[in-house]
Amino acid sequence: MHDRRHRRPAEPARLTKILCILAGLAAGLAGAGEAELGALVSRGEGEGAGQHQLPARAIDTRDLPRTRLSVADGGNATLPLYRIGPDSYFLYGNIATIDDDNRGFNGNAGFIVTGAGVVVIDALGTPLLGKRLIATIRAITDEPIRYLILTHNHPDHAYGASAFHELEGIHIVGHEGMADYLASPTLEQSVAYRRELLQEDMEGFEAVAPDLLVPEERFAHLRIELGGKTIEVYNAGRHHSHGDLVVHQVEDGILWVSDLAFNQRLTYIGDGSSQQTLEAQEWLWERFPDARLMVPGHGSAQTPPFPMLQETHDYIRTMRERIGQQLEAGRSLMEVVEETRMPGWEEVPLYEENQRANTSFIYRELEFELF
Ligand SMILES: [Zn+2]
Repeated sequence: MHDRRHRRPAEPARLTKILCILAGLAAGLAGAGEAELGALVSRGEGEGAGQHQLPARAIDTRDLPRTRLSVADGGNATLPLYRIGPDSYFLYGNIATIDDDNRGFNGNAGFIVTGAGVVVIDALGTPLLGKRLIATIRAITDEPIRYLILTHNHPDHAYGASAFHELEGIHIVGHEGMADYLASPTLEQSVAYRRELLQEDMEGFEAVAPDLLVPEERFAHLRIELGGKTIEVYNAGRHHSHGDLVVHQVEDGILWVSDLAFNQRLTYIGDGSSQQTLEAQEWLWERFPDARLMVPGHGSAQTPPFPMLQETHDYIRTMRERIGQQLEAGRSLMEVVEETRMPGWEEVPLYEENQRANTSFIYRELEFELF
């Protein structure tokens, strides 16, 4: 699809005219390539495709997608797709908990077409969505899928991996902490929950372990060089799960930060570490001052100065301060969960769903830290 510009050579007689038109347009076209970035390039296929509500752009927008999917669409139907870099594509997930209409498509994913193979970032939330992600990649390029980077093990990002792991020659990149998750009772509970709501979409689910691990040391990285692209995969610690990654597309200045920053919805803090989240966000600011685009695990992509990063940092820092004061004043977990409100955040999507859980998690963390 990115080869569209390669047209057959013009005949000499038409060439002068074309050159004149091009010269006239030159100034105006300077920004056209950029303006194209962020644009919706495909609406996807399937029964409900006509009912999708899709923002025209997926960068710096407040508009939320509403993508309606059906099991009847099958695994070969593509998903809506945005182009966010010269060779980078973005799947803009719904901002919602899982339901009948979104079929678990409530997190983002993306992929990079390097010229020598495709690198995929996250696999979406069910085996069926994983298949549809592969079909979406196939609509853009025939290059082999060489790497699937799982930014963390949470279902909305990782359960589509079942569809990828048997692709020939693919490497699954992950954090060593994923092994802890795969051996934990959380996996079973989480799979049971998704199966109950999305039985057919979960068919063929298998827990997929990474075969390529990032270095153990926090903020160290693994480098992938493929085609003309350098992709660095950082160990961002265990801030949001059993192990979290950040992906840096070096030449394009694109940072895939996954759930280190949330855009257009409240964060969820259910495992990981709120303190490590703050540290990883501060590391990100210092380590990548020249990043041109940030892609979160939820919500639209953003250009500098990346307000979502500051907002998520402010929320977590303020929550820790308030809950810490309440804890020191001797208030119980129940009282603090009932009473901790975050003015300014109450209208943000998923506030009602997550605020109490976040409070409870941070209370128990601080109890452990302080006493
Ligand atoms: Zn997520």
